[in-house]
Amino acid sequence: MSNYSIAVDLGGTNLRIAVVNSEGKMLEKVTTGTEVQRGRDYVIREMCDAIQSLTVKYRNAGELAGIGIGVPGFIDMDTGMVMRSPNLQDWANFPVREEVERRLGTKVILENDANAAAMGEKWLGAGRNTDHMAMYTLGTGVGGGIVLYGRLWHGMNGMANELGHFNIESEGHPCGCGGHGCLEQYASATAIVRMAREAIESGDAPDLADAARGDVEFTSRGIYQLAIQGHPSAQKIYRRVGRALAIGIGSMINALNLPIYVIGGGVSSAWDAFAPTMFEELKIRSFIYSITAPDRVEKGQKHTVVTIALMGSDAGLYGAARLPMLALAAQTDVVHSSTQTS
Ligand SMILES: [Zn+2]
Repeated sequence: MSNYSIAVDLGGTNLRIAVVNSEGKMLEKVTTGTEVQRGRDYVIREMCDAIQSLTVKYRNAGELAGIGIGVPGFIDMDTGMVMRSPNLQDWANFPVREEVERRLGTKVILENDANAAAMGEKWLGAGRNTDHMAMYTLGTGVGGGIVLYGRLWHGMNGMANELGHFNIESEGHPCGCGGHGCLEQYASATAIVRMAREAIESGDAPDLADAARGDVEFTSRGIYQLAIQGHPSAQKIYRRVGRALAIGIGSMINALNLPIYVIGGGVSSAWDAFAPTMFEELKIRSFIYSITAPDRVEKGQKHTVVTIALMGSDAGLYGAARLPMLALAAQTDVVHSSTQTS
């Protein structure tokens, strides 16, 4: 029987809730402001009210598999608590999963937002034809997700996949994690703007300085526009992004030898500005990529694919919706196999 899930993307500014059926069709999506400043209890109540009205509206759409909630930060998968989240500071050590389950009487899965995006790309996007993949989300920060055998890899206690904190410059720019020179400091939207400001301050980028004084929106997107218009300083910044990604992804390729690495998030729309450098550098920086790049293997042989994400900003919603469906299927499998063996 067909079923459906309710997916939630609990971002720092927006709360997005969607109804997605098991065929991967989004039936409805609602977006509201998160109003994080009004506190945890307020946000949870708003979220539960919105979910409840959607479950009433779609009660004839099939069986409700459950609710998947994507949250930025570390999630303790055993307890269903948000251990640390940059946007939801008063949520630490609060049993979110239990509380939402209690209010709604439905199974809830809490997941890191980048992991949810990886699952969305695995289900319906760039990773749909593979069982193993890694995903990078290039946004305000850099997040990651790894899917192995069709399931998310969580590590020992849900902290795996911090691909944005791969060290790529031993004495590089300080990072929010306490380290220096993390990938996030060279490949996020925040880093792109910072690198542009650094270039202006150093006096090496008069073209960027002119742009910063002018009408151009001084964001990673604005700097991308300058790059594609041929401004050398903006192009140089995106080449730096490409090189940083090659170092980070190259290490992953050496370690895991996965068939596909997907790059999503807002910055991925600047693909043509950073990808040529990234591919060039990957052959130098990754031993395994140098052997398994698409143009280095015989036609039809297994090769490493590094590609842009396909699901846009809805990847996390599709992934969050998929998780309760997989959990339900796994449960059914267990029931079936125990019936067969008895
Ligand atoms: Zn870091």
